[in-house]
Amino acid sequence: MRLTRRSFLTSLAAVAAALSGSRAVAPLARWRRGVKGAVPALVARPEGVHSLAHLEAVPAGGGVALAFAAKPPRAEPAAASGRRWVMVIDLARCDGCRECTRACQAMHFLPGGQEWIRVYEMRDHELGAPYWLPRPCMQCDNPPCVKVCPVSATWKREDGIVMQDTSRCIGCRFCMAACPYQARSFNWVDPEVPGMPDEPYAMEWNRVHRRGTTEKCIFCPALLAEGRLPACAAACPMGAIYFGDQGEDAVTNSQGETVRLSELVAANAGYRLLEELGTEPRVYYLPPRRPLYPPPPPATEPASAGEARR
Ligand code: SF4
Ligand code: SF4
Repeated sequence: MRLTRRSFLTSLAAVAAALSGSRAVAPLARWRRGVKGAVPALVARPEGVHSLAHLEAVPAGGGVALAFAAKPPRAEPAAASGRRWVMVIDLARCDGCRECTRACQAMHFLPGGQEWIRVYEMRDHELGAPYWLPRPCMQCDNPPCVKVCPVSATWKREDGIVMQDTSRCIGCRFCMAACPYQARSFNWVDPEVPGMPDEPYAMEWNRVHRRGTTEKCIFCPALLAEGRLPACAAACPMGAIYFGDQGEDAVTNSQGETVRLSELVAANAGYRLLEELGTEPRVYYLPPRRPLYPPPPPATEPASAGEARR
């Protein structure tokens, strides 16, 4: 039997792949059409050079646009691409509705069961109140997944996004084993997604999907190119997910609130998950102090990120 490069590398990795279990396949909610028009659309006025407050509605097209200042309000060094994308998730606002998850599934036509942004019910200790924690890919600045990929199917872009090219992926799943956030999914079977467009593979849309490859959140670069928020941030009815450019020191949520990244994180004791690992995540969390919703009832067995199946 003649081995191709792909099948050879895949065979080498078969044992590692077998250790990670499989996923259940379930029907997907087709939420995609609901993304458009369900949230306010925002754009910065060209003359709003020094202010992030000059926002106005976009009459057509729907969705949510990022509110960029024409000049950064603070002289932060930016990458050559001009952007350094960053996300802030306010846990005090998240009520666990999982609209972010559904919006992501609809945007990328995800195969059944895949959740590129997964909402965990958390409880830090027995005296603590439960809270919700959405977990996308952290787009790590020091990404372990990139270091282990033998075929460079995943890599770090200048704007901070950790991309994934499934046309190069050989399915070894080394990246899944290396990711400390369990942010990657694997297509065990030929994906069957109702309504999936008949289109060639497009990396920036992260679709169509292919059996035997890994996939993950990539901050919706196709939407960013149109000046819109990622699907999850645009869909959050609580405005819990802020997104923006670190170079501009500004982030925006679905409610049209545009705030300084540095002030938001500093004033609310923001933190990053597993900071001690040195992965340098590009996702910040604000702790669930004084939540804006009634806390979920205590779970019989407290869930944690480590219990998640991939
Ligand atoms: S992206 Fe992951 S599964 Fe695909 S080849 Fe690279 S390490 Fe292996
Ligand atoms: S969260 Fe995981 S998949 Fe995402 S960049 Fe970091 S190591 Fe890679």
